[in-house]
Order: sequence, then C-alpha cells, then structure tokens
Amino acid sequence: MALITSQASRSGHATRPATTASGDYRADAPDVVVVGAGFAGLYMLHRLRTLGFSVRAIDAADDVGGTWYWNRYPGARCDITTADYTFSFDPELEKAWTWSEKYAAQPEILRYAQFVADRYDLRRSIQFGTRVDQARWDEAAGRWHLNTSRGETLTPRFCIMATGCLSIPKEPDIPGAGNFKGEVYSTSRWPHERIDFTGKRVAVVGTGSSGIQCIPLIAQQAAHLTVFQRTANFAVPARNGPVAQARLQQLHADRAAYRQAAKFSRAGVPMPINMVYGRYAPPGQRTQLLNQGWESGELIAAYGIFADQALFEDANELVCDFVRDKIRATVADPATAEALCPKDHPFGTKRPCLDSGYYETYNRPNVRLVDLKRTPIGAITATGIDVGGESLPFDAIVFATGFDAMTGALVAVDIGGRDGQTLKHKWAHGPRSYLGLMTAGFPNLFTITGPQSPSAFSNMMVSIEQHVDWIGDCLVHMQQHEASVVEPTETAESGWMQHCDDCAAITLHARTSSWYTGGNVPGKPRGLMPYIGGVDAYRKACDEVVGRDYLGFAFTGPGVVGGRSCNDGVVRRLQPDVMRALEMFAALSLPAFESLPPAGARELMAQLRGRRPPGLPVGATQDGTLPGPGGPLEFRLYRPATPRPHPLVVYFHGGGWVWGGHDSDDPMLHDLCRRSGVAIVSVNYRHAPEARFPCAAADALCAVRWAGEHAHELGGIPGQLAVAGWSAGANLAAVVCHRVRDEGGPRIAGQLLLTPPTDGNMTTRSYIENGGGYGLTSALMRWFWGHYCDPADRLDPRASPLRATSLSNLPPAMVVTCEFDPLRDEGRAYAAALAKAGVAVKELCARGHTHMSPTMVDIVISGEPVRAQMADALRGFFSQTQTG
Ligand code: FAD
Ligand code: NAP
Repeated sequence: MALITSQASRSGHATRPATTASGDYRADAPDVVVVGAGFAGLYMLHRLRTLGFSVRAIDAADDVGGTWYWNRYPGARCDITTADYTFSFDPELEKAWTWSEKYAAQPEILRYAQFVADRYDLRRSIQFGTRVDQARWDEAAGRWHLNTSRGETLTPRFCIMATGCLSIPKEPDIPGAGNFKGEVYSTSRWPHERIDFTGKRVAVVGTGSSGIQCIPLIAQQAAHLTVFQRTANFAVPARNGPVAQARLQQLHADRAAYRQAAKFSRAGVPMPINMVYGRYAPPGQRTQLLNQGWESGELIAAYGIFADQALFEDANELVCDFVRDKIRATVADPATAEALCPKDHPFGTKRPCLDSGYYETYNRPNVRLVDLKRTPIGAITATGIDVGGESLPFDAIVFATGFDAMTGALVAVDIGGRDGQTLKHKWAHGPRSYLGLMTAGFPNLFTITGPQSPSAFSNMMVSIEQHVDWIGDCLVHMQQHEASVVEPTETAESGWMQHCDDCAAITLHARTSSWYTGGNVPGKPRGLMPYIGGVDAYRKACDEVVGRDYLGFAFTGPGVVGGRSCNDGVVRRLQPDVMRALEMFAALSLPAFESLPPAGARELMAQLRGRRPPGLPVGATQDGTLPGPGGPLEFRLYRPATPRPHPLVVYFHGGGWVWGGHDSDDPMLHDLCRRSGVAIVSVNYRHAPEARFPCAAADALCAVRWAGEHAHELGGIPGQLAVAGWSAGANLAAVVCHRVRDEGGPRIAGQLLLTPPTDGNMTTRSYIENGGGYGLTSALMRWFWGHYCDPADRLDPRASPLRATSLSNLPPAMVVTCEFDPLRDEGRAYAAALAKAGVAVKELCARGHTHMSPTMVDIVISGEPVRAQMADALRGFFSQTQTG
C-alpha cells in the first residue's frame, strides 16, 4: 500500500533530531512528564509550569495541536461552536484571539493551538517527534521509567497521559487493504501537502463525521467519487457562518459567568435544558421543537430537542423520523435516500455529524453511494475495490474509518504498574478507572479525559480544563502535605464504575455499537466508555472527592502521618437520575412539608404532582366511588389493553395517611398496569388528621371487600384479588392482609408493599442514616405519624403490622425497600419477619433509590427494573392462585 504521509507524520519514526524551537527542554529534570501536546498537553504543561513543577511534554507529532495537527483532511472542522471550543483559563488569552467562523476549520484551530503554545512559551518544554513506547512504575524509587522511540529513559515522579481520545487510527479491517497500488489516504493521518483529486476516481470508505465532512469537498474536485457506507449516520445542518451574534453578546456581557455556566452545563456549552417530553407532547409542539432543533445548527441542541429522547426509544424515534424525512426531501434518488436513512441506531447513540452539504452531494452526477449492508466489500485489489460482483477501479482511496477511541492511545503504550500488572491486562475486559483520572494499581499515573470521564460526551475544552486543574491541584496538595505517591483505592474505583454503569443503563447509548462502546474495533471489549452523567454532575463529583479529603485516594510519603493516609469510600451511591430528581426538588426551595399545616402541605403536593408526566396510556381508566364506613370512597380503575376479565389489584396511595387520593399515583399505576397486565383499582381513604387511626385502615378493608364482591363489574376475575400500596398505602395493604386473614376473607392472592412503614417506633438505623436529604425525611415521617396516630396507638398492629403477634398464613408478599429511605430497615424487618413466619416473600432492596424514586415513572428511569419486578410479582401472585 502506498500510504502517502507527510514529512511530519513520517518523522514520528524518530528520523529527525529531537529539537524544538528553543530546544531547551533537555534542561529539565522533570518531576512530571506529560505525554501529548494537543490541547490537553498544552494546558497541562502551562498549568504545571505556573505551579512551579518541572515538566516536560512529549509528542509523536512534529508540532503542537494533537487532533488538529493530524486530521488535516478537506472539510475538517469542529462540531462544537468555536466560541465554546476554546480555552477559558486565561481571560487575556480569550481577548487576544478571535474566531472567524461559527465552526472554525482545522487550519484555524491548529493556528490557535500554535498561538497558545507561543503565547506561553510552551515549545521549549516539548519534545516533538518522539513516541513514549513503554512506562514502568518503579516501586522502590516511587518513579515512572518512560522509554521513548528515541531510546531515552525518563524517570519522572508523575506521568500524565494527555494522549487523546481520538488519536489512534483504527486499522482498515478490510480484506486486501494493503494491496491497492494507487494513492491511499487516512483522514486521521492526512498529509501536510495539498492533495489534488482533480480528474481522479476516488473512493471514500466510512461515513462517520470525518467521512461526512470530507465527502462534499472531494466530490467537488474528483472526476468521480464512490462512497462506501456501512452504517448510515445521522447528520444535522451546521449552518456555518460568522460566529452567532447572540452567542457573542452573551459572552461579552459577562464572560466569566458564561464560562462558569459552561462548566456546570450538561455537555460543556451553556444551553437551556428542554423539559418537554417528546412522548407526551402534542403534535404541534413536537413539530415546533423538531424544527427548532434542526434550524439551530448545533449538535447539543439536536441532542436535547426532547427531554426524553436519550432515554426512550419512542421519543428518540420522533427525532429519527424527522431527520429521515429531511434526508428523503434532500436526496433526489429515492433508493439512495433510503440507503442514507439510518435505521439501526437511535439518534445520538453514534455521534451525529454536522453537515455542510453532505446529503446534497448525492444529487451530483459524479457521486455514487455503495451500501455495504446490501453489498459488502469483497476485497481491495491492486486497482480498486470489488463489491457486489463489480470491480470498481480507483486512483485514490480515502479511509475515514475512525479510531481505536478512548483507550487506544493508552494501551498502545506498554504501561506496567504495581506488582508487574500491565494496563493492557487490567483493561482486557474494558477500562476501569476512578473518575477517569486514575486507575488503581498505577500510582502517580493520570489520564486526561480518560474513560469514565465526560470526555467525548462533552465540549472537550471544558473537560480538558477541568481535568488539568484537578490534577494540578492534586499535585499541589501532595506537595503541601509531603506526599509522594497517590493512587485510587479499589473500593472507590469499583464504586465509580458502578455509577458509570448506572448512568449508561438509563440511556439508549449502551445498546448501540459505536466507538463510544468499543463496538467499532473488532475484538474490543464492549461498554460505554465516556461518562454520560453530564459535565455538571461529573464536576460536582470531582469537587466533592476533594472536599471530602480526597475520598477514595490513598497518599503515601514522608509527610503523611503513619506513612499512608486514605479516606476510603464511594463518592456516588445514589442512582444518577434519583440524584437529578433530588437536585431539581431542592432547587424549588420549597418549605419543609412538616412546617406546614396539613391543608397547605396537601396543596403544595398537589401542585408538584401537576408538573409530572402523566404516564403512558393503559387500555382504559374509569373513576367511580364505593361505599366506605365513613362515606363514599373515590376510586380509579386502570384496565389493561387486553380483553377483560383480568386479575384485580386493590391499590392504596402514598402520602403519609395525610395527603393523596385515588389518582395521586397515576403515572406509576399506568406503568404497573401496562407492565403487569392486571387491572388495578386505586382507592382513596380518609385522611388524617381529620380522620385519625384507625379510619384509613377501616376504609382499606372495606374497599378490598367491596372490590372482591364487585370483581366482575370491575372487569376482574372473581377470586383473583391482590393488594398493593406505596408508603402509607403499603402499610394499609399489609394491615388489610392481617384483617382478612383473621376476619373471614376475602382471599388475597398476594401483597405488594412498596416502601411500607411497618413499625411506629421510628428507631431504626435507616431513620438516622437516611433521615435528611433524600426526599422523605425522619422529621416528616414523625409529622405523618403524629397526625395519623396517638402515641399510644402507634404500636397497635393495625398501625404497625410488624408488631402483630402472628404473621403466619398471610398472603405471599413482595416487599420493596430502598437503600436511601428512612423506612428501609422496617421494610426489611417486615420481609424478614414474614419469611420467618413461613410466608412466601420476595424482598427487593432498590440500590441507590429513595422512598419516592421508584414511583417517579419517566423521571427516574433507573426505577424501571424495580417497577418491572413489581409487575412480575403481581403476575406471579395470580399464577400461584391459578395453579394453587
Ligand atoms: P489529542 O488532540 O488527540 O492529542 C493527543 C496527542 O498525544 C497527539 O498529538 C498524539 O500524537 C500524542 N500522543 C498519543 N500517544 C502518544 C505517545 N505514546 N507518545 C507520544 N505522543 C503521543 N472535540 C470537541 O469537543 N469538539 C469538536 O468539535 C471536536 N472535533 C473533532 C474533530 C476531529 C476530526 C477529531 C478527530 C476529534 C474532534 N474532537 C472534538 C475531539 C478532539 O480530539 C478533542 O477536542 C481535543 O482536540 C483532544 O485534545 P487532546 O489534547 O486531549 O488529545
Ligand atoms: P467514526 O465515526 O468511527 O466513523 C468511521 C466510519 O467508517 C463509520 O461509518 C464506519 O462504519 C466506517 N468503517 C469503519 N470500518 C469499516 C470497514 N471495515 N468497512 C466499512 N466501513 C467501515 O470515525 P470518524 O468519522 O473519524 O469520527 C470519529 C469521531 O471523531 C467523531 O464521532 C467525532 O467525535 C470526532 N470527529 C469530529 C468531527 C467534527 O465534526 N468536529 C469530525 C471528525 C471526527 P460503522 O459505523 O459501520 O462502523
């Protein structure tokens, strides 16, 4: 293969002397070696020099710029607006540089990197044309031994890998790739000299961002262009031009505030968060938002057209359909248009591209699309490409086939840590890190924008600056405390991995094969590599780690008391969406419910409920009343879409016996009905303090009896009756089971108890551990009990079912408890007591959940497995009834 490369890229093989403009980097005996001189390496170098460390940077390239040094293909430009894709660490630097376009092209971005290097005189500390091939941790010396392609060994105390997420090209894994005798180019190793395709027959393989950017320009020059597409990709129009005035005005009005907002935004660009759910929005609003996203010319806006598009396939499909229609409207040939329509992945799960005339290019007479899904490449030959029985001759082939992303550059260096363990071995099943900054077993080795940090899911400039600042601060901290070695603990790392997995699990991303998941490289382990919890959430976690005395990091050194210090622990234990929900709730700055009179608390709660999505439709709902002991009780019946009759569940709402109603748990009951296929009748009961204990329990019993007697009218199957409830409602459901057992039925097939209060003495450990900050507080629980029951009645088994003299012969149960609920321990105690009494019981402790979070359908996606298991339990109760 005649791979045409530039002098610069050839020099990566160490043919030139390792000199720089000022050539004095050898004067350093560095404390720190920074590998890479892209934006990350440049800022790291500057920051450490400013902090007084001796530091040397090394790059395989012959100049600064990293990505923008290597990716020089026609059309290369950024896809984050350049006003945002820019350093913010020095306001004077910002003033000194003006971007010419909304999305600057590669030459301008490279000039910017060079400008930064010159402004801070960085080149004198950078060794170019040198690759770091090997790194070994020397335990005795507490230093790294770095071997370079020039045969040198460096022994810094710290090694910082600024090697880039997208810096190692993926090998073109196509049969015969080495056979072609014509010109071969790779977008990510593009020559420095101008390439002229005039009059040539050109092939481009790959339709990711690189392909989509270069195809329109190559098509304008070439005699004929054939595009080989394996996976059709979504692209939205860039609408490039001058920097948007609105953005500039925002920036100039208060630069510091704008940059601060970027740091605490979801993706590193300040942007309002759209709260409209696509799945519930009326058609007119959907269209308006879709058009708005399309017109914005911004990737991040297109990611956030609907609040739920990254979470639910049906919401995402609205965006997919919209973009596909735009493609069909643009591309004249219907067959080509159809082939260009992505149909195998949700929008955003492969990075969508910003398009400047891409789809229009297919209307040119000199452009042909080959859909490799229909006709795969047979082989690359000496003269062209064999595909679908044709031999297509070419003068040049351009590979735009992407990167071994995120981990490629890190494992390409033979890194050996503590006890001879190599990074490649440790990461054989996928990368593991703490905060994407360090990995256990590899002391004093930092990674900038490493896996499990926001990296490629963000404006990289914001993420780079954050990592550089964090690492700089850490090194200063160590200096101040005379610590020489830092390393994360296994506990902290495992906790962070769990959190990253939790974040991934609630999005559609993990399901798509992409470079985000390692799916583009044959044999690479799969798993979503960048942190998808958001730039803001990530920064808060990193800051919290520092604030909690470097939680999860161990330090050793002469100044460390006892030689080693470690505040071990896990920084994030809540589910990410539960945390967001709590933050949203806190941001409302509501008064504490227990500070209000019951009427005020009810009103506030009703207002909050009004803001929540309604839930997806069930077959039918029907409201009615039933006769209760103190007057009529309202109910709402939820019927599945399947033909009646169905097993029937009588459900009691949450609300601490003080607030709520037959319709107050509407979204969750829609969900439970849809999932379980059973009919649910949600019955209201009299509330405290107007009607105190035992009124609610009496109403609940009456309602169950009435439902049993009227099962047929309700669309139920007579004899197939279960009870369920959440919180205070779960308490009532449990109590009803005791009463029907003791007082002549009806027969209950099962009891589903979600976070039940079971014991009014409120002294468990979870009351203390989870007493504040997780929605339901201990203080509020005391307020509820106070309104519901006199102290003398609280331990009555009709209020505290755990206190019953016997729990035997109760219906099979599922008890759901939540890790961060004050009621957790009494729920668990009840499940254990039921089991001890011989009751078939399934207990589920929802990890990372709070008292309320599993009920927050649509907001708390991580509750889906819990809700699914609750639905399974309901179905299970009735299958036992049928078989038993
Ligand atoms: P890089 O810029 O990748 O620099 C890493 C450097 O390390 C390279 O110069 C490499 O030669 C060197 N290196 C690696 N390994 C070794 C070794 N073993 N020894 C010596 N040197 C080594 N991100 C955005 O946020 N917005 C965008 O618009 C955007 N557009 C992009 C466009 C393209 C074409 C590509 C490929 C990526 C784009 N990215 C974008 C991501 C981009 O990579 C980052 O924004 C950013 O430039 C990364 O900077 P970095 O310094 O971390 O890594
Ligand atoms: P990419 O997104 O991974 O795209 C690679 C393309 O090559 C895909 O279409 C892929 O198909 C195809 N391909 C790979 N191997 C192939 C094979 N053996 N046969 C046929 N086709 C093959 O890589 P990229 O385009 O270089 O972009 C990578 C990332 O860099 C982007 O997602 C973005 O983050 C960044 N980038 C940004 C810009 C920008 O606009 N600022 C520009 C370029 C790159 P499959 O999808 O089927 O694997």
